[in-house]
Amino acid sequence: MIAISEKRDYYEVLGVAKGASSADLKNAFRSLARKYHPDRSQEDNAEEMFKEIQEAYAVLSDEQKRAQYDRFGHKGPGGGSPFGGFGGGGFNINLEDIFGGDVFSNIFGGGGGGGRRSRRRGSDIRMFHTVDLKKIHNGSQEEVEVELPVACSKCAGTGAKDGEIADCRECNGQGRVRMRQQVGPFVQDVVRDCPSCEGSGHQIEEQCSTCRGKGKEIKATTLRFNIPAGAESGTRLRMRGKGEPAPNGKGEDGDLFIEIEVEEHLWFERSSADLIMSLPLGYSDLVLGTSITLEHVDGKDLTIKVPAYSNSGDTIEIRKRGLPRNRGSGRGDVIVLLKLHMPKKVDKKSKKSLQELKDVLAPKDILERIKADAKDRRN
Ligand SMILES: [Zn+2]
Ligand SMILES: [Zn+2]
Repeated sequence: MIAISEKRDYYEVLGVAKGASSADLKNAFRSLARKYHPDRSQEDNAEEMFKEIQEAYAVLSDEQKRAQYDRFGHKGPGGGSPFGGFGGGGFNINLEDIFGGDVFSNIFGGGGGGGRRSRRRGSDIRMFHTVDLKKIHNGSQEEVEVELPVACSKCAGTGAKDGEIADCRECNGQGRVRMRQQVGPFVQDVVRDCPSCEGSGHQIEEQCSTCRGKGKEIKATTLRFNIPAGAESGTRLRMRGKGEPAPNGKGEDGDLFIEIEVEEHLWFERSSADLIMSLPLGYSDLVLGTSITLEHVDGKDLTIKVPAYSNSGDTIEIRKRGLPRNRGSGRGDVIVLLKLHMPKKVDKKSKKSLQELKDVLAPKDILERIKADAKDRRN
């Protein structure tokens, strides 16, 4: 027990000002209690802190006690504690009142309805599946070999030898027990998962030797699923009941989610149904124009016609050669961004040719070049 003289100021404990409103106190208490709740907190001094927080809140949230504390501090009018027996279980705070039902079940894990339900259902499993743009374009039927957990065939997922499970004697098969708990100076009524059966309500006399009581085994499974044409990266396909088997073979199996990832393409980037690429071209290609043919995701050739006198930064749109639209019909476009490819090195002979072309490529007079540029910008 902390000696009275070493006690921290209650306002300081809750991190609020002396004149704090009851709403401020409540908020401060809530966030601190969540942080330091011994069941949840990772902090080393969680339990000690939690007690301190509870005590401070118990006093400051009571108008009369708060007034007394404001006047006399920890010492009280006659010396010693004015509040009599902090350590003796004098306060009974119902945390559910303070946190509300939802938060209560969050803090206490299996304490709420959600926790109960999740114990009756196997966990979901997520796996990733990577496909290339061609498959996204055409849609595809996939067949994948995976290893998935399934209910142990020997014990039907119960984890018990010959599948024999009895009701837990501790909780009569309810999975939950009501407990009176002393946290620091407070007595709480808490409904918890039964410690004996961990909330399952079952008791296993003898474990299944095949799965060592786990109720599941790993099995190679062939999954078949369709990738819809135009699917986006991150699309999740759900396979019901292919997740973790239900605990103890009772209840619902979890689901398997297959998340589609689209492989990076060498030149295309995707913007929903449009395919965007940058096309590096030589200076002469830009000046004279050119035609370039690439293998395309739709299986046909994609021909890009670059007109003469194109600029680096110009775009060419090739309509309806993008991907099929995910929702609705038709296809997106291919958008080609022209880019000047700058050589890293030029040999002597080419340098000479370039020198000869200098006056052809740009007017010799700088003012003439500036005027031409200004005119281009205005158009
Ligand atoms: Zn039990
Ligand atoms: Zn088994």
